[in-house]
Amino acid sequence: MEEKKIIGDEEEKRMAGMEREKICRRCKCSYDVTSNSPSSCRFHPSFFVSRRHDDQKRYYELGPDDPPYAAKFYDCCGAEDPDAPGCTTDLHISYDDN
Ligand SMILES: [Zn+2]
Ligand SMILES: [Zn+2]
Repeated sequence: MEEKKIIGDEEEKRMAGMEREKICRRCKCSYDVTSNSPSSCRFHPSFFVSRRHDDQKRYYELGPDDPPYAAKFYDCCGAEDPDAPGCTTDLHISYDDN
């Protein structure tokens, strides 16, 4: 049994677009694979961490009212804003890549 589907122009275009557009597993942005370059993906190579401040004074001083775990920052660059732009760029990586 052969199953034939009639695909309209619009459907075909949509599928072609889906082929080119992928989701980056690192920054979770959708991107066009044809314009992926080593500066396309901005990300932090390390995690946003929360850690006791004992010996981490290089990041920032805790105020007297801050809880001891108030030190939150990216382990790679020390950025304290979770939305801070990435400190490193590279190619986007799709979920299909290894
Ligand atoms: Zn960083
Ligand atoms: Zn990316």
